Amino acid sequence: MVEHHPSSNPILPPAIIGVVGGGQLGRMLALAARTMGYRVRALCPDLDPPVAAAAEVVRAAYDDEAAVATFLEGLEVLTWEFENVPAALAAAAEARGIPVRPAGRVLQVTQDRLREKRFLQAAGLPLPLWQAVDSLSALETGLRLVGRPAVLKTAAFGYDGKGQVKIDAATEAAAAWQAIGGQPAVLEAFVPFVLELSVVAARGLHGEFVHWGAIENRHKDHILDLSVAPARVSPALAWDAVALARRVLEALDVVGVLCVELFVTADGQLLINELAPRTHNSGHLTIEASPTSQFAQQIRAICGLPLGDSRIRGGAAMANLLGDCWADGEPDWAAALAVPGVTLHLYDKHEARPGRKMGHLTAVAATADEALRRVVAAREGLR
Ligand code: AMP
Repeated sequence: MVEHHPSSNPILPPAIIGVVGGGQLGRMLALAARTMGYRVRALCPDLDPPVAAAAEVVRAAYDDEAAVATFLEGLEVLTWEFENVPAALAAAAEARGIPVRPAGRVLQVTQDRLREKRFLQAAGLPLPLWQAVDSLSALETGLRLVGRPAVLKTAAFGYDGKGQVKIDAATEAAAAWQAIGGQPAVLEAFVPFVLELSVVAARGLHGEFVHWGAIENRHKDHILDLSVAPARVSPALAWDAVALARRVLEALDVVGVLCVELFVTADGQLLINELAPRTHNSGHLTIEASPTSQFAQQIRAICGLPLGDSRIRGGAAMANLLGDCWADGEPDWAAALAVPGVTLHLYDKHEARPGRKMGHLTAVAATADEALRRVVAAREGLR
């Protein structure tokens, strides 16, 4: 639901902010909110989730109506750190007069790849070639239109490369269709990108727009590995990326933070990969590198407060710490922290499974190159 007449009264501390989800994004969001004197209540099905460090947790399934009612009691605003939840949750909050920011419609569009593609296409935004696929024969037709290599992605509930299969010259369409469980999907041309960028941006209650510029991202096994800011691209390309992000936030009427993930092609074209209607892993470096982190900005935006300065000071880089870092025992934190400009974040996750995001390191420096060098050295020092 779009708020046509948002109250101009900001939501002030010690109001209770509701957060749907309990992972590291919720944790860092709750820490930022607590710093400002807000109270935070999170809804999350997990035992002892990362958000518990800074929030009261209602432990329940997202579709548990009675628990949702308890969770919503007394909230002054509701936001998200995890968007793959039933639409009924946003509707329940809206029905109680609790502002949902970003609104339920933003989630509705972004939690389904088909809806997201259709929305972006209708808004005239640049996308890789794609086709909707709902059967094996539609996949075969789609492959003729999109060409090979291609990537088949389930429409629902995908992140970090989950529910995706690459289709090469030799891949049987039937095998790919089976690999994603024969669900409604999006078939995309495989983009031979030279670089991946993200733009994390925020929009206030009255349409104010701020951003942290283009951030450069490197993935490993579909999971973000390293982010660097400012992205080492031409000012014109960075500007174009931010302009695309602005069009997305405005078209979706976002109040809060949203991240646009982009591919840069060899000829310098920008294509939108996907949207995340929340704070984003690539924006973690804003905690150290900007006067206003993505988390503090999210709180300001959803509470109707003025947005903060979002410059990146000098250069910054972030390295994710996956469960794999624990393969040979406890990492050597002291060695990592001996590298100048490095900060450690751990999310209080108890089981270090391979591929699980356990924490991250951020390095700040005078330049992006130096920050990247530092963060890589710090992560290598862990072993
Ligand atoms: P996603 O979960 O869709 O963000 O995909 C995760 C990562 O897989 C992206 O950041 C890319 O590195 C890679 N990827 C996804 N889709 C494509 C594509 N169409 N072409 C090339 N690489 C892709």
